[in-house]
Amino acid sequence: MRFHTALILLAAAGFAGAQTASDPEVADARAAIEKVRALVEAGAAPRLQLQKAEEALADARDAAILRKTVYGRDLDEAQSEDMLAAARHRLERRQKAYEGAMKLVDAGALARPALDAPRQEMDRAAKEYGLAESRAALVRELAQMANAEQAFSASLYAAPGEARGAVERHDGDGVFDMDMLAGVETAFERHFGKPLPVSAAGDTAVHRALGFDHRGRVDVALDPDAPEGEWLRLYLTVKRIPFFVFRQAVPGKATGAHIHIGSASARLASGG
Ligand SMILES: [Zn+2]
Repeated sequence: MRFHTALILLAAAGFAGAQTASDPEVADARAAIEKVRALVEAGAAPRLQLQKAEEALADARDAAILRKTVYGRDLDEAQSEDMLAAARHRLERRQKAYEGAMKLVDAGALARPALDAPRQEMDRAAKEYGLAESRAALVRELAQMANAEQAFSASLYAAPGEARGAVERHDGDGVFDMDMLAGVETAFERHFGKPLPVSAAGDTAVHRALGFDHRGRVDVALDPDAPEGEWLRLYLTVKRIPFFVFRQAVPGKATGAHIHIGSASARLASGG
């Protein structure tokens, strides 16, 4: 479900990923700074104006990061942090502008309707921040699952053949490909009346950043011991589809518990 939500957000936003460096708004803001700087140095404009132009450039940079991240696809954890910081800075700038306008209204220097525009800007930035937060939460969740898989793979490497309490392996027929996912999704949706919460269908930037090949594998964000997780485990067992069960490493803490469908993730050649 979460995966689908992210896709819907992407479709609704409909932005192509722009590079911050070549972003037209950033270029405009940079050009404006140079003009203002020349004026300030010539004594033809107040220094405050340069500060404003610099803030506009920082804001345009943050906007470019957001276009690439909130509305772009497939983030790793570092990009997700950049996205959150950019959205927070944009919100803070607009809160400051609104508070400034409010002071002028209180002092009688500005009419009250002048607050409308800064308030709308602030509300928009708050919404954008909310979007960035929910996107970052998805990335964090995905990363926790990927980390659980990485820890498992590392422990296998260190001590093969040893029992591992938190992870359960079911080999089935040993065959799973992405075409089989649709069948699992349909059966789940028919049973529970909602979509299967797939958090990673195949490869993701988070997995790549960890040096993991997750192609042809699927992570489902379900507690394996809740009714939905139990149903999925039974379904996969009956269908003889290979899967791994990852339980919470720390009881009571949601740390990467999920069901991984397909064979174990392989290390990417470049991942060492
Ligand atoms: Zn997985």
